[in-house]
Amino acid sequence: MPDVVHESVFNLQFPFTRTLGSTLSTFFSALAQGQIIGVRTGGRVIAPPLEYDPDTAADSGTDYVKVGPKGTVSAWTWVPEPTHLHTIKNPFAFAFITLDGADTAMIHLVDAGSESAMKPGMRVEATFKPVDERVGRIDDILAFVPAADPAPSAGAGESWDAPAEPEISTQDSYCDLVYVDNTSASTLLWMESLLAGKLVGQKCPVCSRTFVGPRGMCCVDAIELDETNVVDVPDRGVITNFTVITPVQYPGQLETEPFARCSILLDGTDAVMAQQSILDIPADQVRVGMHVAAVWVPEAERDVSEIGNRGWGSGGDCISGWRHTGQPDEPEENYLERMM
Ligand SMILES: [Zn+2]
Repeated sequence: MPDVVHESVFNLQFPFTRTLGSTLSTFFSALAQGQIIGVRTGGRVIAPPLEYDPDTAADSGTDYVKVGPKGTVSAWTWVPEPTHLHTIKNPFAFAFITLDGADTAMIHLVDAGSESAMKPGMRVEATFKPVDERVGRIDDILAFVPAADPAPSAGAGESWDAPAEPEISTQDSYCDLVYVDNTSASTLLWMESLLAGKLVGQKCPVCSRTFVGPRGMCCVDAIELDETNVVDVPDRGVITNFTVITPVQYPGQLETEPFARCSILLDGTDAVMAQQSILDIPADQVRVGMHVAAVWVPEAERDVSEIGNRGWGSGGDCISGWRHTGQPDEPEENYLERMM
């Protein structure tokens, strides 16, 4: 198999809403008011508060206290090139900051201007967003900056009277993760075959099963398969399973009508290609046993950039979908014992 290392770059993005629970609801509700709090438990103040004492696993309770807004830096890492996801655009530090009135450190940004300005023991102070821009999230604190006056924070350590019902109980967040997948030799072979308009698999010399997509192993016999086991497989098969998906309109969802995603057992093979699209028939007319054939994207338009090491059998942007051949349906007994 080819030994070229090919990198696929993926960007995983999704918005999500999380529930906070009573302790973090109290913390973020206070934060939206411009007050950082901790919880007194086991003879010390943990800030930000935790629901459980990390040393004893005991319930931390609700003895909330005011901490900060000033604190002391104990350690940091410098970020010389912020990404588009960082909330400040100039170089900054992620630092452990023990807020006045607290016994544990929290992690936040320190905007000190330059790396040389950072030192252990430096006094910093929280700067908050304007009150009408706060949403009860950790970035309601824009950053910590060197404290103009290193004197202790006024009011730190005093009790914080939390409302019976915190006003903020959920939080909207957004995941944006870029990662690089070093494409395996077997996946690279699959990509090359798709670009050439053909499908390949590997036939196990022990159990004689043919897996679609060269995955480099037989998962039944736990043996390695190599280029000597590669076989051409047909681009025709039978639908063995399907799911009809009613699209929820989350960001990035392009489908608006219910659609089917099918597992297809290619003729003469033992492992299905999963998550395949069916063309030209409504989702409610898809059925198991249907014979289908691949519809290939024109050669010049084929693209394998979306194929990674996970999900054997993805057609990438090389197979636009599968079309019913019109043959009579396959009897059920002929497509049992298939595998993923
Ligand atoms: Zn085998």
